[in-house]
Amino acid sequence: MVALNELRFDNRFTTSLPGDDSGGTVPRQVIEACYSRVSPTSVSFPRLVAVSPEVSELLGLRADDIESAEFVDVFSGNRLLEGMDSHAACYGGHQFGNWAGQLGDGRAIALGEVIDVNGDHQMLQLKGAGPTPYSRSADGLAVLRSSIREFLCSEAMHHLRVPTTRALSLVTTGDLVVRDVLYDGNPAPEPGAVVCRVAPSFIRFGNFEIFASRGDEATLKKLADFVIQTQFPNIDSGSPDSYVTLLKEVCELTADMIADWLRVGFVHGVMNTDNMSILGLTIDYGPYGWLDNYEPDWTPNTTDAQHRRYRYGNQPAVAQWNLVQLANALYPLVGAVEPLQEALANYAQRFETNWSQMMASKLGFRDLEDQKDRDLAEEALMVLQTVETDMTLFWRELAKVNFEASVNKMERCEPLMNAVYRPDLMTSDQRASFADFAEKWSIRHRELANNVIEVSAAMNAVNPKYVLRNYMAQLAIEEAEAGDPSMVKELLDLLRLPYEEQPQYERFYALRPDWARTKVGCSQLSCSS
Ligand code: AMP
Ligand code: MG
Repeated sequence: MVALNELRFDNRFTTSLPGDDSGGTVPRQVIEACYSRVSPTSVSFPRLVAVSPEVSELLGLRADDIESAEFVDVFSGNRLLEGMDSHAACYGGHQFGNWAGQLGDGRAIALGEVIDVNGDHQMLQLKGAGPTPYSRSADGLAVLRSSIREFLCSEAMHHLRVPTTRALSLVTTGDLVVRDVLYDGNPAPEPGAVVCRVAPSFIRFGNFEIFASRGDEATLKKLADFVIQTQFPNIDSGSPDSYVTLLKEVCELTADMIADWLRVGFVHGVMNTDNMSILGLTIDYGPYGWLDNYEPDWTPNTTDAQHRRYRYGNQPAVAQWNLVQLANALYPLVGAVEPLQEALANYAQRFETNWSQMMASKLGFRDLEDQKDRDLAEEALMVLQTVETDMTLFWRELAKVNFEASVNKMERCEPLMNAVYRPDLMTSDQRASFADFAEKWSIRHRELANNVIEVSAAMNAVNPKYVLRNYMAQLAIEEAEAGDPSMVKELLDLLRLPYEEQPQYERFYALRPDWARTKVGCSQLSCSS
């Protein structure tokens, strides 16, 4: 274990790649550089709200480090430790399908790469730490509301085994930040906050796109070689082939991440190419949401309400579109289209395999090789849409369905009724579709000579009992804004074991409450953060 001031930094990103040292935070186009050196802005009254025990452990921090005044100073941006090299990355991106030019870390300031207890590099990054050259006309700050959402969801996703950036700490700054939550001309001051995010790298598809768009092949090559050497050491760097292999690997990592999103009911909300990690990590938690009732067309992001580009069910297709943009950006280094197209094909292949494996595991089957099982998977998704049905409860309750022959058909599907929002409004046909599905699923498990206990244990290991439902985050936010952060800590604790029974938290294993159906922050979120 090391103390805070003994954290060891090895800043490969800033020492290996060209940077912009012109100083200051004046908004500007940054040319032929991967980052700009910039310091976090001081805050007036930093207070620690919550810390992730697992991330602090990963970094080798002790309890007395976390409780120290130094910790809150460093992770609010008031103080830099020796060895840190604070900077903001330069990237571009396609937003909602259109090229948006230079974007960059407008309110994220990376502190440097720390060596964790396993000897791996972890970039520390403060989100909401003040303006950078990439802030354009915005303030570089973040509010408590969105910071709680980022902090909790990063950790929740990790414990759900979904690849994600992590969050070490959540600090309030003591400063007010003005935001117009619904973009409807009602700006209001809100408490400011800073989250310290942690990931091996925060490089996005957009980091490549910006140099390709400017025809800056030299910097593009430096960045690609750096990413290969530091993040994909199994690839031999330097040859045109290496960039094709890089794309192939990113395709596979992305396909893995998207299948996991679908498995747990996560909707990112803003899958712009600047929000796509080169490591296939879920990154930039903004107007994301979780499906309560299963509705593939749902998106929480009000900014996307019209076209629903980033709706739950469109995420696999959008990821592919984004990967095509990455392929375009790598093209100058490869000089041929065909190998890139071949690499891209890996995405669809891998996603299909993942999807089928994922659905099999949700149903408690080993695979979906048999057409009967593929049909059952489709039927499950149809049943979920027959009436308003809660996704998390449905899968979890399915594990409670007893598939033994002795059980009567209507009785058998009783657990599934717990997932239905208004069982009193169900027609007999709708009830029959639940019962038929449960019956076919049971017959199939009996055919396979499966064991009830083993199947339910396997299903409970992939179908979470607890996810960060939108209303749960919203309740924690309202209490924290009123000065009581205890629910943030409680949710952090709950979400550390999302697949386990936690009787003390049984109240969170329930249908979304009615009041949350249309409430801002629960069903509708804007990008204002
Ligand atoms: P997002 O859609 O949240 O990922 O943000 C898109 C771009 O806007 C990124 O380049 C962000 O850094 C930038 N951005 C978002 N909010 C702010 C803010 N409050 N201040 C400065 N830049 C911001
Ligand atoms: Mg972003």
